[in-house]
Amino acid sequence: VAVVEKDRVGGVCTNVGCIPTKTLLKSVELLSEIKSCHKFGVAVQGVALDFKGLMKRKEEIVNRMVGYVEYLLEKNGVQLIRGSAALTSPRKVRVVEKGEGMLELEAESIIIATGSKPLKPPIPGADWKDVLTSDEALALENAPHSLLIMGGGAVGCEFASLFSGLGTEVRLVEMMSRLLPAEDGEIGSRLEQLLRRRGVEVSVGVEVKRISSSPEGKKVALTSKEGVKEVEAEKVLLATGRVPNVENLGLENAGVSFGRKGIPVNQRMETNVPRVFAVGDVAGGQFAHEAYAGGLVAAENALGGNSILRRETIPRCVFTSPEVAAVGLTEEQARERGHRVEVGRFPFAANGRAVTLEAAEGFVKVVAEAESGELLGVHILGPHASELISGAITAVSLEATVEDVARTVIPHPTLSEAFKEAVLDCQKRAIHSLRRTLS
Ligand SMILES: Cc1cc2nc3c(=O)[nH]c(=O)nc-3n(C[C@H](O)[C@H](O)[C@H](O)COP(=O)(O)OP(=O)(O)OC[C@H]3O[C@@H](n4cnc5c(N)ncnc54)[C@H](O)[C@@H]3O)c2cc1C
Repeated sequence: VAVVEKDRVGGVCTNVGCIPTKTLLKSVELLSEIKSCHKFGVAVQGVALDFKGLMKRKEEIVNRMVGYVEYLLEKNGVQLIRGSAALTSPRKVRVVEKGEGMLELEAESIIIATGSKPLKPPIPGADWKDVLTSDEALALENAPHSLLIMGGGAVGCEFASLFSGLGTEVRLVEMMSRLLPAEDGEIGSRLEQLLRRRGVEVSVGVEVKRISSSPEGKKVALTSKEGVKEVEAEKVLLATGRVPNVENLGLENAGVSFGRKGIPVNQRMETNVPRVFAVGDVAGGQFAHEAYAGGLVAAENALGGNSILRRETIPRCVFTSPEVAAVGLTEEQARERGHRVEVGRFPFAANGRAVTLEAAEGFVKVVAEAESGELLGVHILGPHASELISGAITAVSLEATVEDVARTVIPHPTLSEAFKEAVLDCQKRAIHSLRRTLS
């Protein structure tokens, strides 16, 4: 097995995605906990943000993880070739090696995993120096005084949490009527309230039309139903989505179909050309765990297996404060597909552990099929949602019913109890809340 990488191994996730953002978010969480430690009966004086220190820690952690991926490749006997790869036929790849000329490789199967890059929206001013992509925002030398974030999806919301926690004045602008438009409607609306509570200025149903320069920074023209308004910000962050890396890959040479959304694949992660596979963001994925799961499926099939990826049970997480995590169908999707559904909710305000953690915000929402009781979707907004969702992923993947979950015993006091209570609430059986008090 040979892997061709033109930059650093680990890709976006390890270098400029999951790992650096979560490292910085931990510092912000710590800062916020210290600032509110009086609530816990702990007195601390003289808390200050050390921006250089937190960026240094981020670099160290990224380097450590990149080193670990290199180590794993080596120990597993994978040949790592540093260079840029392009297909010359369905079985051949030409590599332009870093400073060392050209190399031709031939393989029985090829897996394309070239990822994605930030999308620059076609508006005036999007190319200016103080208009940042997420890659550039992660390499800043100081926290900006003010930041306008264009796009209220997962990346935009995470950066809003991050920079507002660092003391930056953040304005988050989303074109659709709510944050996280792809998620369950109740989640986006409630997240908006919670981000506002943390000082983020949120504007939904508002479009950025142009960005122009002023001595104070960038002037951003926003349009909404109410008309056009200009606001100022020192920096602007583009969080308007990503585009798959399909250019200069020689896909045409191999006859591999592709489009604006990337390379279409079947459930076996195979493209239209037999034994040429595509996985991760270049195949329309959005998450590191999706790329990883797709990679395993493609590798098994490349070796003659018959594995498939069930995209419908891929979880979705947003590492805001508090976090969002979901698996399966939203209530809206379940109804659109003609399911008769029962919906259960449980607020963290009624969960003992969340109260002890001073983290009793948000809720768990469960969507179940009314007749069979099968769990169709689980949506969490609250503390450690990205960890809590794992129990729900198992339940949804195994097509568990309300009754199956009702018979499980969950340790007390834990945040996980909120999941079981929300499941029970689908049938008005949650003991620790009265349904009428929840609306
Ligand atoms: C700010 C941010 C935060 C994120 N946070 C999360 C998160 O918390 N959780 C999560 O699940 N996802 C997160 N993501 C998404 C996640 O990073 C991606 O879904 C994931 O990295 C996709 O993996 P991939 O292997 O498909 O592609 P990538 O990680 O993009 O890797 C592609 C690799 O291919 C290389 N390459 C490209 N073209 C060539 C070529 N021609 N020759 C050789 N090499 C080439 C690139 O250099 C790169 O290393 C985040 C993304 C961003 C931007």
